[in-house]
Amino acid sequence: MMSKSEMSKSEINHCNCKKVLELLSAYIDSELSNDEKRMLDKHILQCQPCKVYLESLNYTVRLSVRLEKQESYQMPKDVRVKLRTFLKEKCQCDKDEER
Ligand SMILES: [Zn+2]
Repeated sequence: MMSKSEMSKSEINHCNCKKVLELLSAYIDSELSNDEKRMLDKHILQCQPCKVYLESLNYTVRLSVRLEKQESYQMPKDVRVKLRTFLKEKCQCDKDEER
């Protein structure tokens, strides 16, 4: 059996940031499977940039839902692009991978 720290370490090595990126729009639409949601939750515990981004994204979404009185929300394209750039610059997992 793996210890908790060993588990987190192996997941950081397999940086999930790119996967998380793909899941984010589904996350916004609450369309994630339980497995995916668990992966996302686990990842943002280890990855500060993703956590910060997800929080700000949540805030943006809630705001825009309220403004437009919509049930669902499509992540705007520029938000996606911004997220990609953001993670490329900040993601510590990616930097570790290159070493
Ligand atoms: Zn990340």
